Amino acid sequence: MIVSRGASTISTPRIIPRSEHPISRENISSSALKVLNQLRKAGFDACLVGGCVRDLMLGHEPKDFDVVTNALPDQITSIFRSARVIGRRFQLVHVRFGRDVIEVATYRSLPGEDDETHTSDSGRLLRDNVFGDQEQDAIRRDITVNALYYDIRDFSVIDYVDGVKDLEAGVLRIIGDPERRFREDPVRMLRVIRFAAKLGFRIEHDTAEPIRRLSVLLDEVPPARRFEEVLKLFHGGRALETYELLRQYDLFRYLFPMAGQMVEDGHSPYATVLVPHALANTDTRILDNKPVTPAFLYAVLLWGPLQQIMKRYLDRGLPPAEALRDASREVLSAQLDCTALPKRFSVPMREIWTMQPRFERRRGKMAFKLLGHERFRAAYDFLLLRVEAGEADQSLADWWTEFQQCDDQQKQGMVKALTAEAGGAGRRRPRGRRRRQ
Ligand code: ATP
Ligand code: MG
Repeated sequence: MIVSRGASTISTPRIIPRSEHPISRENISSSALKVLNQLRKAGFDACLVGGCVRDLMLGHEPKDFDVVTNALPDQITSIFRSARVIGRRFQLVHVRFGRDVIEVATYRSLPGEDDETHTSDSGRLLRDNVFGDQEQDAIRRDITVNALYYDIRDFSVIDYVDGVKDLEAGVLRIIGDPERRFREDPVRMLRVIRFAAKLGFRIEHDTAEPIRRLSVLLDEVPPARRFEEVLKLFHGGRALETYELLRQYDLFRYLFPMAGQMVEDGHSPYATVLVPHALANTDTRILDNKPVTPAFLYAVLLWGPLQQIMKRYLDRGLPPAEALRDASREVLSAQLDCTALPKRFSVPMREIWTMQPRFERRRGKMAFKLLGHERFRAAYDFLLLRVEAGEADQSLADWWTEFQQCDDQQKQGMVKALTAEAGGAGRRRPRGRRRRQ
């Protein structure tokens, strides 16, 4: 492999013919095949590229199919009636077939070596919308196994970067000089970790070496992009392995600074039980095709810091409900400096928190009210994690488990039994004591 930058490129790719690789058209979506065939018919290059080729080579089912071509965006749109140009800078084209959308990109290249207008002082790539040829398109990609092309012309796989070798060896290797590529786009460090966890691949030495040293560059990545990556990292089905790797490579704290501090510092049940168990549960849910939400993920990861800050408020004499409210505001606002968290997730996250003390209060109508809450299920799942971490009693969780399952009359009975159990001492004074005038 020869990696060159800028306009001139030199190497010849390795071509793996159809008979020597496992990719069959049967495993490619019909929409992607239509796009590839029509581009081809119009006289253009037409290839699948990126994650879908990697996954097909490994016998996995791709999440989506990305197409690249030498056709320019307006040439692509003139071929497909349903095509729409997305993004001003990147000029991707979306081709729609019913609910299916295929992303079609024109080959791009990296800016030239000496072109300083394209990078920031720290080497971050500011522009990468320069069109190029297929080889240039390959070497601007992040990881060798992500830079393979499946060519619809003869169904071969085209490899400029020894990606097939790495795929066979189970190795993740950055294309080109790792430090330089990480400086261009620090998110690539997170991507290396994500694919290492997802594919169970080893991170090659030269790729791994600079990560800890450069992890601080993640601070330059805008919070919205960091949030997107958090979702890919933790909702990809391998959250637990990903979390371990992120910590090992000193990256976790650039996504969750307060939580990072706590998991590094100590052996609190939050760090050793609550977080890992929650992530393992998330993975199981994804495996079972059950929904997952960033609200729950953030409720878990920020719970430890929330407790710390809340304690400070309680020590200052604030009543518990106010301490919780103020602490959750503070935790959220600090987190937003680092990763975004849209309101539609931060509101339910805080509800999961504020519902926790309410599990203790079950008399009268309170248990019924809590059970009817829109967020009950998530809050109950959170309670179970707190029980595992030794923060709440197993008997409390058992009570709520039973309460959800029984009929209305039995529910009434359970609430009554609580009052009876508490006996005279625990009883609240009847409300109507003060006589009405
Ligand atoms: P997934 O299965 O998670 O979708 P993917 O490899 O398809 O994995 P995408 O984020 O969809 O990942 O990106 C598609 C392709 O674009 C990648 O395979 C890679 O070739 C290229 N790419 C994505 N992000 C970067 C980046 N930050 N730097 C360089 N190339 C990138
Ligand atoms: Mg993809």
